[in-house]
Amino acid sequence: MKLYCIGIGPGGVEQMTLRAVRALERCDCVAGYGLYLDLIDELIEGKETIETGMTREVDRCIAARDAARDGKTVAVVSSGDAGVYGMASLLFEVCADDPAIEIEVIPGVTAACAGGAVLGAPLTDDFVCVSLSDLLTPWAVIEKRLRCAAAGDLCIALYNPGSRTRTAHLRRACDILLESLPPSTVCGIVRNIGRTGERVALTTLDGLRDRPVDMLTTVFIGNSRTHAINGRMVTSRGYRGI
Ligand code: SAH
Repeated sequence: MKLYCIGIGPGGVEQMTLRAVRALERCDCVAGYGLYLDLIDELIEGKETIETGMTREVDRCIAARDAARDGKTVAVVSSGDAGVYGMASLLFEVCADDPAIEIEVIPGVTAACAGGAVLGAPLTDDFVCVSLSDLLTPWAVIEKRLRCAAAGDLCIALYNPGSRTRTAHLRRACDILLESLPPSTVCGIVRNIGRTGERVALTTLDGLRDRPVDMLTTVFIGNSRTHAINGRMVTSRGYRGI
């Protein structure tokens, strides 16, 4: 029994890896959040789909597992990379008592890499990803991770920076970082990476506090080596002689 867990990248089909496209072609049944299935509709025409809402991830994985048990070749699709705040770990957990199901994880381009490319080269030095969603992680843990990132002079890609119900999270995160980082720290915001309506903006850590962000946004915070070069966000690796 084969279950694919496929990262489809940040946007439509052109953002997918060839390996992801080929695996999808082999599937009879595709499980995913409606928006992601819409992004790849040209590849899944005529295939059975398992669609559940944003917060029904467990149900979706169970339905995918059951379809695989029925003998279908099934793909669970995640945006970006399925292993970065995606469905991959949940799928392993849901199938834990059934070693006959072979799970193949197919990597995708995560928002940090795709958004970084839109901005320029903000993650060329050591960096971390931190999700500001406290739905599954306590806020105290998120605060601790932000402080550690700042202490380590790491560039930061912030996932889930805000939503309709979590409007103050980005400001709280900025205030924590401003305890130790300069207000002039170069920051970037990218919305709808690789999708229609892609938007990009450069700002400072101070300016970031008041920026409206939503679930379709990824935020980048530079380190002491990050500069704005001709409107792009660039973290220097430290090469000399330029
Ligand atoms: N597995 C995904 C991340 C899922 S968490 C990945 O690897 O990219 C959801 C968060 O990812 C969003 O709140 C946003 O911060 C980021 N994200 C995912 N796709 C995005 C896109 N196309 N544009 C901007 N941000 C995106």
